[in-house]
Amino acid sequence: MATILDGKAHADRMLEGVRQGVEARRARGLRAPGLAVVLVGDDPASHVYVRNKSAACARVGITSIEHRLAADTPQTDLDALIDRLNADPDVDGILVQLPLPKGLDSKRALHRISPAKDVDGFHPMNQGLLLEGLPGLRPCTPTACMSLLAHHGVDLKGLRAVVLGRSEIVGKPMALMLLEQHATVTIAHSRTKDLPAVCREADLLVAAVGRPGMVEGSWIKPGAVVVDVGINRVEDPGLAARIFACEPKKLEIFQSKGAVLCGDVRFGEAMQVASAVTPVPGGVGPLTIAGLLANTLQAANG
Ligand code: NDP
Repeated sequence: MATILDGKAHADRMLEGVRQGVEARRARGLRAPGLAVVLVGDDPASHVYVRNKSAACARVGITSIEHRLAADTPQTDLDALIDRLNADPDVDGILVQLPLPKGLDSKRALHRISPAKDVDGFHPMNQGLLLEGLPGLRPCTPTACMSLLAHHGVDLKGLRAVVLGRSEIVGKPMALMLLEQHATVTIAHSRTKDLPAVCREADLLVAAVGRPGMVEGSWIKPGAVVVDVGINRVEDPGLAARIFACEPKKLEIFQSKGAVLCGDVRFGEAMQVASAVTPVPGGVGPLTIAGLLANTLQAANG
């Protein structure tokens, strides 16, 4: 049986580190770090994420300021808000919650954020610094995954790592961070031929695809470490029966609630093959918010 890599416990450790960092600033007579969160429109999932982020800020002593805009806000108004926040000396970090409503250009918004306040680490300047291996604000999810692996003593040097997914938010930066730590990295995606065989080569498999239970137990090399970034809601009973065949508890939750959250990896199957696996929920999810707050503190400290 694999070890479960408990993301919630590690997020608590990371948040405690941030809380102490905030306290140290206050002891030096500095104000609390300030995070501005821009929420456009009524996407229910985004509202939940923003609520969770505000609660986490309160827990560590970061001031969070929410800016809500209507779904039909013109891009120029969003630009103007970002410009104002860029110039505001009390704002250390700016987060534009994605996805933006139709009609708004998210790249344009993200590129407008000052790189020094880009706590999501999505600005091309910060992505470039990461590419060069220089310090900067780095994307929260892969940074937090790296922190989890380090905490559990996973020695990445020379390891065969496969990153499944090549988004700018997770897959690409994750691959760069693994490379920086001397792993031998393969990035796989929707055009990769014989994906199961590619995954089976991995000593470390990171799945960031957004396809529930796509990675089967037979895709995992025995003894591999598996990090499951995917967060998917399963509502189809046929799919649930297939991907939770080795997870009676999950199937029970599905049957009682009619839907359940799961990752890109079949957790029950992975537990029988891998040496360590992150669960969903309770794995990478809580780590991402902790990574965001760590970035906010970093931005405040300059
Ligand atoms: P994107 O949709 O931006 O990227 C998905 C990637 O997966 C793409 O590179 C795509 O390939 C690849 N892909 C899609 N289908 C397949 C397939 N059938 N076979 C192989 N590769 C495939 O997603 P994100 O990176 O933003 O997110 C990925 C997952 O992680 C989602 O479930 C998301 O909810 C979750 N997530 C979780 C976070 C957390 O805090 N835990 C934070 C961020 C994301 P191609 O490029 O060829 O299209």
